[in-house]
Amino acid sequence: MSRQDVVVVTGAGGFIGGHLVDSLRKRGYKRIRAVDMKPFEEWYQRFGDVENLQLDLNLKENCEVAAEGADEIYNLAANMGGMGFIEHNKALCMLSVLINTHMLQAAAKYGCNKFFYSSSACVYNADKQKTFEAPSLKEEDAYPAQAEDGYGWEKLFSERMCRHFREDFGLYTRTARFHNVYGPWGTWFGGREKAPAAICRKVVEAKLNGTNKIEIWGSGDQTRSFMYIDDCVKGIQLITDSQILEPINLGSSEAVTINQLVDIVEDIAGLKLKRNYDLSAPKGVNGRNSDNTLIQKYLKWEPDTTLRHGMEKTYAWIYDQYRARERGEAGVVRESTAAR
Ligand code: NAD
Repeated sequence: MSRQDVVVVTGAGGFIGGHLVDSLRKRGYKRIRAVDMKPFEEWYQRFGDVENLQLDLNLKENCEVAAEGADEIYNLAANMGGMGFIEHNKALCMLSVLINTHMLQAAAKYGCNKFFYSSSACVYNADKQKTFEAPSLKEEDAYPAQAEDGYGWEKLFSERMCRHFREDFGLYTRTARFHNVYGPWGTWFGGREKAPAAICRKVVEAKLNGTNKIEIWGSGDQTRSFMYIDDCVKGIQLITDSQILEPINLGSSEAVTINQLVDIVEDIAGLKLKRNYDLSAPKGVNGRNSDNTLIQKYLKWEPDTTLRHGMEKTYAWIYDQYRARERGEAGVVRESTAAR
């Protein structure tokens, strides 16, 4: 791939897409097209030296604008959020099928060389995630299918569309199943935030307001693994350039309970809070972890960032964002043409 090739990132105004654009810039790509439906001022990261397009990719004609002339497409745009969002917005999550259908069609139409699709651990069969002992999910555990209702079913369907566009139309497609990704420049308030950001925000709030308490969704015994954003971006590139045709896990295999995640954030913040458990709040499956046997075997990939280190960076960023919002500087965006 030449540094002059056109690389398209959809969902570029969001968390992972913004970091991916930044990493492509730093690797020397000169013709990056960043696409998102949000108004530019709401993008989490926006770079003056890339082509930024505000397009609603539910619409086929907009996907054609996005894909025309593209050598590589990273399709990250989706309606998504933490459990609180996906449990209450199943239809909206399923409508992401429009983005994925139209982006695949446009990629095939314009002869795109490589198409990456961001799937999710939410495709895995719920029956295999009933215990708190964090079952490590292997790629084959997505079938027989019993995905997370709404969001997970759409991801599973779109994975299969990628497969059949490859088999039937010869489109080069690669798919990663992300397990919880966290880090700076992600959603941290508003209802779509995921557990690491939500916990950081609640701890910051408790610290600054002196409330001394935190609300936790569920019993706190739920287990998950969390992957730092830099590790995710590296994995996306390796998977896109690999010969791995079937969807593959991209996540940390270090499972922790939500209570342990709160312990880490309390320790970083230097306080101990009284925990109130909301057992009626959305909490998702009881246990989920990534089995990394395949990605280690084929790509020798494993996360470099410890959970503690990644959460330190995330907490510090959310602390600054929180203070900025208090000062009325809402919607802080990273805007840069800085060194590549
Ligand atoms: P995000 O919400 O921060 O980014 C998604 C972006 O897609 C948003 O900026 C949104 O505006 C955009 N978008 C939504 N609908 C669109 C449309 N119709 N047209 C154009 N843009 C549209 O989410 P993220 O965390 O960066 O996730 C990126 C991808 O990774 C998504 O496909 C998500 O499902 C997947 N994923 C993320 C995680 C995670 O932990 N963050 C886990 C599993 C899978």
